[in-house]
Amino acid sequence: MTQPTKTTCPYCGVGCGLHVQRSETGAISVRGDPEHPANLGRLCSKGAALGETLGLDGRLLHPEIRGRRVDWDTALDQVAEGLRSVIDRHGPQAVAFYVSGQLLTEDYYVANKLIKGFIGSANIDTNSRLCMSSSVAGHQRAFGADAVPCCYEDLELADLIVLVGSNAAWCHPVLFQRIRAAKERRPEVRIVVIDPRRTDTCDIADLHLALAPGSDVALFNGLLHYLERHNAVDWRFLVNHTEGFGEALEAAQSGADPVATAALACDLPRAQVEQFYAWFAATPRTVSVYSQGVNQWSCGTDKVNAIINCHLATGRIGAPGSGPFSFTGQPNAMGGREVGGLANQLAAHRGFTPEDLALVRGFWGAPRLAERPGLKAVDLFQAVADGRVKALWVMATNPAVSLPDADRVREALRRCELLVVSDCERHTDTTALAHILLPAAAWGEKNGTVTNSERRISRQRAFLPAPGEARPDWWILTQVARRLGHAGAFPYEDPAEIFREHAALTRAGERGHRALDLGGLSGLDAAGYRDLAPIQWPVAADGKGSERLFADGQFFTPSGRVRFVPVRQRPPAHATDVRWPLVLNTGRVRDQWHTMTRSARAPRLNSHRPEPYLEIHPKDAEPLGLAAGSLAQVESRWGRMLARVELSARQRPGSVFVPMHWSDAFARSGRVGALVNPATDPHSGQPEFKHTPVTVAPATLAWTGFVLSRHVLALPAELNYLARTLGDGFLRYEIAASLVPSDWHTWAMTLLGPEGDWLEFRDAATGRYRAAVIRDGRLSACLIVSAGGPLPERDWLAALFAQALLTPESRTDLLAGKSGRTGEDRGRTICACFNVGLKTLERAIREQGLATVQAVGEALKAGTNCGSCVAEIREVIDGLD
Ligand code: SF4
Repeated sequence: MTQPTKTTCPYCGVGCGLHVQRSETGAISVRGDPEHPANLGRLCSKGAALGETLGLDGRLLHPEIRGRRVDWDTALDQVAEGLRSVIDRHGPQAVAFYVSGQLLTEDYYVANKLIKGFIGSANIDTNSRLCMSSSVAGHQRAFGADAVPCCYEDLELADLIVLVGSNAAWCHPVLFQRIRAAKERRPEVRIVVIDPRRTDTCDIADLHLALAPGSDVALFNGLLHYLERHNAVDWRFLVNHTEGFGEALEAAQSGADPVATAALACDLPRAQVEQFYAWFAATPRTVSVYSQGVNQWSCGTDKVNAIINCHLATGRIGAPGSGPFSFTGQPNAMGGREVGGLANQLAAHRGFTPEDLALVRGFWGAPRLAERPGLKAVDLFQAVADGRVKALWVMATNPAVSLPDADRVREALRRCELLVVSDCERHTDTTALAHILLPAAAWGEKNGTVTNSERRISRQRAFLPAPGEARPDWWILTQVARRLGHAGAFPYEDPAEIFREHAALTRAGERGHRALDLGGLSGLDAAGYRDLAPIQWPVAADGKGSERLFADGQFFTPSGRVRFVPVRQRPPAHATDVRWPLVLNTGRVRDQWHTMTRSARAPRLNSHRPEPYLEIHPKDAEPLGLAAGSLAQVESRWGRMLARVELSARQRPGSVFVPMHWSDAFARSGRVGALVNPATDPHSGQPEFKHTPVTVAPATLAWTGFVLSRHVLALPAELNYLARTLGDGFLRYEIAASLVPSDWHTWAMTLLGPEGDWLEFRDAATGRYRAAVIRDGRLSACLIVSAGGPLPERDWLAALFAQALLTPESRTDLLAGKSGRTGEDRGRTICACFNVGLKTLERAIREQGLATVQAVGEALKAGTNCGSCVAEIREVIDGLD
């Protein structure tokens, strides 16, 4: 075994530290770093499976121009030449970069410096715009800087934790584990979850407020009014450290009885609202966590400030166990915010004021510095669509899937004069449209830093050589900058040099204190950078970090006082109506990350939620004729998709939920981004992913089915539904079509290939067809379709791919379409760490009389590692009572 490399998880904003170790055979094992303050050794299912995602299948290994492999010099010359040509003909505003919270801070820094400083356009925006820019805007309005007050330890010190629009159990699992552990240690800690859906996060909730979608401002305005009415305001803090309380209170008051007003506006029982308000008023150590359910609205920034207002009124900020706390989505969304990855920030948290422009211009030696903010993500792609932006460089992200109104974005990319994409993946919906592809180094091959949700900078360290001709993003950008004639400003030979410059810029020209201050890190030498331990900014000159901000009551506004922001409840941009009666809400699933390009490489992460699904309340499904497990068509004004129906009383009637992850590459008809309305928040530019009016109906299909195959299949164009997942030794394709082949045998032969022994069953009366192909005694592929009846479980069939020689019993089972033996069907994955499926769990609970999560853990180990599945295990136990 080699010495472990200390690095950081590349998935979410928790920023867990890892120990990665390579065995002599090259096998990689990943463990939580017990010394990293973010996770203290814990990992979630995604982090624990990272070692299984490192294969080179599907990697982009060489530069390409229009599909043809070229060398680096040719590719870089073409990028520089293309950018120069567009600038010469149309000016710098015709150029844009669209970057990603997956980039390291050093990559981000160079990208921002190149476009804002030397191309002269501020058209650089990041996909972090889609997940947390409303929090940024809310912080700036209140604190005068984009500064998160809290640290993770506050979650353990709080007596009341309010989770607003945050399914932390699935989206920030290690922080959820920390909260769960704190509550187990101190059961008196109260947890309130505010979310229209009953998510797994509610597993530890003392109170769940399933409020009407988008009514959070009314709820927190009611709370502000209640605090004032119940003498819970900290007047000393108000007088000494704040401004604007009167205006905020006036905006918050919309009735004599704040509880009744909020209960009505939020469609909640009065008693629940009263309980929440009373707990908040009486609990000095309160942390309010908010995440995408708050941010992803056209009123997202107002929601953030409505929450912050309540903390300011009670003086609950800057002290241990109290404060408003934004959980960031991506691993380095914070790092991007720090260096100017958002179009409306210049660099180092500086804006476009004359003073900031002069300072950055001088620091960079950049006479062409962009002088006004650039286009935010949705507007940027609109500018690509209407031809104002003619050259777009996309780095480490997949906007053809992830942007709202994604079909229009895809069309815009198709029409773009020059589309450059740097990525480590060869086959994404966005790389498919690129003119120039640049192979980027992936996680495990890159060196740099990331910043997590608690402002903690951690090193990401390489433990693998970059394969093929892949290069770090900062290197690629540096080479292009030099070719554009800026070699002197881009001398970088390693990421440490870039970090030092970034750190120095945070401090340049400053006499007073500022939020983003890395002055204490600007002198790091090579060894200091190599060994840099996790540290929270601001970092003082003596090199000490800062756990919390604002303990001294000093803020970053001109007056030094924190600002109340008056906010009023606003409706979403598009209301439901008779034609579009349901509200579509989008979000994550537990075991996948973004557009699945990395997480879908790990088979054990694919079986928890293997295909796009629609969660709908039975009361909504019944009149629509939607049965559990059937396929539904979901449609909005902007697009349509197909999804598997999942009936769930956890869903609020009138609202449906569809996960965000599936792309064209994984589900041809399952891209929810195509449906999402492109309305944005006026302050932050963040899109309204949580509220799109839709209609849902049973899909009209002649048949549905699936294929399991050892080999990649070329699926015919007439298949209008598809979900492709990687299993252990096979690929699973969920398929359906509106036409029945005239001859199933010929169709199946074309799809699966004619070689091998064929087992077939056909029942024309019921529209069932089954075929299995056996090659060299092993199951090579099977195709199962039905014109409407139930389809067999996939898991016992999947298990047949592990048989070295298919047994006679298994051949019989294949023809029968079901296993003759009990216990072979494990069902969809519940516990990804120990590969325990739903059916296995149900059998064990019934046969062994397991009545608690602990008993299940002892019997099956399920739920005993990362704990992400504990809520689901409890639900299964309760369901079998
Ligand atoms: Fe990675 Fe999970 Fe930690 Fe997020 S919570 S950083 S996905 S291990």
